[in-house]
Amino acid sequence: ALLFPTRLKVVPHEFSDRASFRSWLLDDDGGFRNTFTRDIRAREQVTAPFVWFAPSDDGHDVEDFLGGHDDTLAWCREFMSPRDEIKPNYPVADMMDDGYTKDHGYDYDLVVIGGGSGGMAAAKEAAVLGAKVACLDFVKPSPAGTTWGLGGTCVNVGCIPKKLFHIGSLLHESVRKDTPSFGIRLGEPNGASATDELSGIVPDPSTQMRWELVRENIQNYIRGLNFKYRVRLREKEVTYFNKLAKFTDKHTIEAVDKKGRSSLITAARFLVAVGGRPSPLSCEGAEHAISSDDVFAMEKCPGKTLCVGASYISLECAGFLAGMGLDVTVAVRSILLRGFDRECADKIGDYMVDHGVRFKRDVIPSKLEKIETGQTKVLFSDGTEEVYDTVLAAVGRMADTDKLGLESVGVETNPKNRRIIGKFEQTHCPNIYAIGDVLDKTPELTPVAIQAGLYLARRLFGGDKEAMDYQNVCTTVFTPIEYACVGLSEEDAVAKYGQNNIEVYHREFVPLEWSLSMSRSHNAAYTKVIVDKSPQENVLGIHYVGPNAGEVMQGYGTSMKQGLTLKTLTDTVGIHPTSSEEIVTLSITKSSGEDAAAGGC
Ligand code: FAD
Repeated sequence: ALLFPTRLKVVPHEFSDRASFRSWLLDDDGGFRNTFTRDIRAREQVTAPFVWFAPSDDGHDVEDFLGGHDDTLAWCREFMSPRDEIKPNYPVADMMDDGYTKDHGYDYDLVVIGGGSGGMAAAKEAAVLGAKVACLDFVKPSPAGTTWGLGGTCVNVGCIPKKLFHIGSLLHESVRKDTPSFGIRLGEPNGASATDELSGIVPDPSTQMRWELVRENIQNYIRGLNFKYRVRLREKEVTYFNKLAKFTDKHTIEAVDKKGRSSLITAARFLVAVGGRPSPLSCEGAEHAISSDDVFAMEKCPGKTLCVGASYISLECAGFLAGMGLDVTVAVRSILLRGFDRECADKIGDYMVDHGVRFKRDVIPSKLEKIETGQTKVLFSDGTEEVYDTVLAAVGRMADTDKLGLESVGVETNPKNRRIIGKFEQTHCPNIYAIGDVLDKTPELTPVAIQAGLYLARRLFGGDKEAMDYQNVCTTVFTPIEYACVGLSEEDAVAKYGQNNIEVYHREFVPLEWSLSMSRSHNAAYTKVIVDKSPQENVLGIHYVGPNAGEVMQGYGTSMKQGLTLKTLTDTVGIHPTSSEEIVTLSITKSSGEDAAAGGC
């Protein structure tokens, strides 16, 4: 793919072969020569006529204009990298084949559709690299009428409010379950006997977590973030439009504002980063359910709640609502946390039961009905009926692509989830790219969207070659007992390598911070490491169920990227006393049949 033109004119120089151009281009240290990069940085010289000729041996000997300094530098980086590092499988030629030239005559070099985690990251990075960028973000109200500001799912109706409610709920649980054992007194214990109070068995009923207060504080924090995001786009010279976009052709979108006023915006390249939205229930009366798009902003406490679905979103919401002291039921059709490690998922379920969450197994709601009290009556598939103050549907998410006009520009989507099909974030329409939750077969996580956006911007406008690596991404489920993992689940490891070719090291343990409390489930925390049975015992997956799971797992994720072996893991000296040290001191194998319950220190 690395063809050199028969003649390359870099005014006033002219080169006829790759070697002479390369030796002119690179300085002694292998970087781009100063004069070249300095010229390029001088904006007024941006259109200086650098010209390259296509190779004549492909029958194409017409003079092609490559572009100005920026385009030429990008081309040089792409084709003449000082490191000559072409990532395997990275389709350099495809990326350059999107019809992009600097003097394209469109309004923008790049228009990003969607101002969420991925879209904003890509827009700012592209602008920093010199591209003229616009970003459109428009929030369609949820069916229940909830709407929000700039920043997308994560900040408004996802990670941020979810984690803040979760933290609040953990604090509340700790106040009730742990603080008595540490001798902390928060108000009078309302009738609990001194012995009960000391043992921590009787929670202090005077503690309360007030929905209206925590909700207000969280929403204020989010409004602050919405404002900061706007400022940051402006600082990076990204033009922001609060408009809904739809493709009219591959270089044009129609942008419609809140008042229905429409305008056309053109761009050489588009990046679709529109994320996803919750799927509604499919039963009669589904409109009486809310979703994760609504729950965090509810004015009134949700009260007695039914969470429908066994997704991480359903379990996380059920967990923090129960931790606040609410009566919570989860309706589960089949298994908890499909796609995650089964054993860990079941431990989460067990812990949640101890935490006060009721599970209604093997059912789906078949009808929802509003009753006079304002509550919702739910008829389940097993014929039972129950009444709830709130029904929260968390049965999956769909990419938000159905009204984007993608079919008119040849961008293909997966009919099952409406997510865009692409390779290296490039869609079937070469000048249209996609990242984040909207891109099929990639993890639906904020840091994934951000990293894919940054890498894509750097490849398109910075001459980088690094492709996004979607393997071994750490993730955490913020249920009352948290769970984090990296790599394969035990089921996936068995499916990929065969039961006889893997080994599992595991341990149940009591986190020290829970050890004084009598109200905590015994040995609820758990960790396991799955390795292959090759001589070097490569680590295939690490799983941890316990406090601060995300903090524990992040570093192991870095090790996994380097190709972690069991020896390296167990050669690592632990930090004592922590829960994380349980991972580096594992010795009990599943195949030995030994009890995985750990002893003391
Ligand atoms: P989004 O952030 O969804 O942004 C897309 C934006 O595009 C939205 O603002 C949307 O309104 C806008 N838009 C859509 N269509 C158009 C259009 N036609 N024109 C203009 N604008 C449009 N991830 C984690 O990593 N950790 C977590 O703990 C976590 N918790 C979560 C909890 C919940 C309840 C949910 C729902 C998600 C959670 N996620 C979490 C997932 C994370 O929020 C997403 O992976 C991430 O936000 C995806 O970013 P994105 O840029 O792809 O899309």
